[in-house]
Amino acid sequence: MRPGRFEKAKAKRENIAKERVAGLLSMAEERALAGDIELADRYAQLARKIGMRHSLRMPRGFNLRFCRRCLRYLVPGKNARFRTSAGRISRRCLGCGGVYRMPLKPRVK
Ligand SMILES: [Zn+2]
Repeated sequence: MRPGRFEKAKAKRENIAKERVAGLLSMAEERALAGDIELADRYAQLARKIGMRHSLRMPRGFNLRFCRRCLRYLVPGKNARFRTSAGRISRRCLGCGGVYRMPLKPRVK
């Protein structure tokens, strides 16, 4: 089916949203590296909200960067611990203490 006016407008909005999410996440990453976890979290929460409003998926890798329990933005080595053992990744949020494990899958390209 040929995309109509509505679909086109939607695609446009989604593209803008995607760009904003990507921009916010890279800003969050920058702040996180500078040691400002609080600001990093603010940017990340904004990115998450925009993403949800447009039902976008988080860019690759970033879905692991949010605590499922307290929704904080996780910065490895700062407020989160990532460990691998027995073929699994375990991720501990130092904010709420939640631990999440997932199998370490070979990367499919
Ligand atoms: Zn947490």
